[in-house]
Amino acid sequence: MRRSIIGSSLTSHGRNHLPPKSTFPAAAESMQAFASYANSPTEDKYNNIVIIGGGIAGMSTARYLLASDKKLHVTVIDKNEALPEQSAYSTYDKQQVDLLHFNIPSRRNGNILCPSLTVPWTTRSLWNEAFLPLVKSYIGTSEKGKHATISFDVPSLIGNRDMRACAYHFLMQKYIYANHTHQCNRSILEYNMKCLDDPSDELIQRIEYGRCAKGTKLLDGTIVKGDSSGDIGLFCQGLFHELKNEYGDALAVKHGEEITSIEINGGLIRGVTSVDHGGNKRTIEADATVIACGVASTHLCNTINVPCPVFPAKGYLATVASKIQCEYNITLSGGLGYASPMAIKDSDDRYLYRLSGFVDFDLSPETNFDRIEALVDATRLSLPDLKLIDASACHRPVSADDRPIVGCSQKYSNLYLCSGFGSRGWSVGLGCGKLLSSIILGSNCEIDPAPFDPRRFR
Ligand SMILES: Cc1cc2nc3c(=O)[nH]c(=O)nc-3n(C[C@H](O)[C@H](O)[C@H](O)COP(=O)(O)OP(=O)(O)OC[C@H]3O[C@@H](n4cnc5c(N)ncnc54)[C@H](O)[C@@H]3O)c2cc1C
Repeated sequence: MRRSIIGSSLTSHGRNHLPPKSTFPAAAESMQAFASYANSPTEDKYNNIVIIGGGIAGMSTARYLLASDKKLHVTVIDKNEALPEQSAYSTYDKQQVDLLHFNIPSRRNGNILCPSLTVPWTTRSLWNEAFLPLVKSYIGTSEKGKHATISFDVPSLIGNRDMRACAYHFLMQKYIYANHTHQCNRSILEYNMKCLDDPSDELIQRIEYGRCAKGTKLLDGTIVKGDSSGDIGLFCQGLFHELKNEYGDALAVKHGEEITSIEINGGLIRGVTSVDHGGNKRTIEADATVIACGVASTHLCNTINVPCPVFPAKGYLATVASKIQCEYNITLSGGLGYASPMAIKDSDDRYLYRLSGFVDFDLSPETNFDRIEALVDATRLSLPDLKLIDASACHRPVSADDRPIVGCSQKYSNLYLCSGFGSRGWSVGLGCGKLLSSIILGSNCEIDPAPFDPRRFR
């Protein structure tokens, strides 16, 4: 039975239940018994914190740090020049289909409560759908099921050790950690909903775009009423402007600078070095550093040998319009994915639905239109009149056990990670940012931080 921990007062130092420790990349060891955690690393007071990445992970962490400690100086650095005018993950949303285009506020995100929390990405027949085609393709007789919910790109897997490890972990956790991971994700989701709903938090209430939906509350099981007007991009833009207004010089945001190295001295992180588009380098000093780079987190962490297994698991998205109204997520037959009602209509007064599904271990940004077709065909069973509006592929930053990675790094007591949100960045981002801020500042965590501790990976 799930223990409710929201509202209890847990410090980042007092871990009262321990998650299974998973190894990376030696997945076999991940089945080993529970291991105890080191105490939280630091009670230092920080003055100057650098956050790498200006997506929901980075901006939320900045927001709660600034709100909690008025003396802090926070710098957010993002390599994307267009931020904050564009949403962070738009780099993974390139493949728009040139079809009818309606004035839809966002086709990139949708659900505060991401349906993949309740409707699994994968069906139970993993062996037939995923392992068998994979084995066959290795021996040269590829029979990849056209509509297998998971697919593996063999050259990527052979050529990329991280990708192999991720795919292996991902499948393992579906069997071994499924229940535990589901419960942990639910706890952080509920916490996130609490952050979004908090009426005393005026700043969030001013910019929280999604709450205009249908007043939906989290339900258990697979039926969830649509709450789908949330837009992570608009939210991040709003957050950026509101934070600048509210905190002025206490917040510095640098766009168009890529962090290329992390500076270490005396066993601590001393700062980061960035390169701008003109090739100019500079080093920014910091008392503490947060890596919140979505799918790029692993690469940056690898440069300093810090485990942070976050990988691009490609998924597919389509927006369709229909005259038929359905207030609940529709689970697509064959477990292909789901169709979620959006809280907005198109210019012809039709209801909009966002379809999503599939997990491809494939690094290319291309959209496989067979996948889109499969989603649309499966949705047609429920919405026979549907019209396809647009479609795209995107890489979700999925952690090796499909649970956010939030907390202090294993190796450096002043390095923190906030990543691995997968398909649920909007559903868990604000909660993760608040949780990490409590961990960094050594204050009480409102939920148990242990399940999200980066040190579960070795
Ligand atoms: C199409 C799509 C639909 C989705 N729908 C939903 C939904 O309905 N509900 C839901 O909850 N979630 C949804 N998600 C998931 C959610 O959007 C992601 O989980 C979330 O955006 C991840 O946020 P992040 O801050 O971790 O990473 P990102 O948004 O990727 O931000 C990371 C930032 O780091 C920057 N960066 C990377 N490397 C460096 C470097 N070296 N130096 C400086 N900057 C760097 C990048 O430019 C980027 O801006 C969806 C995702 C996609 C792609």
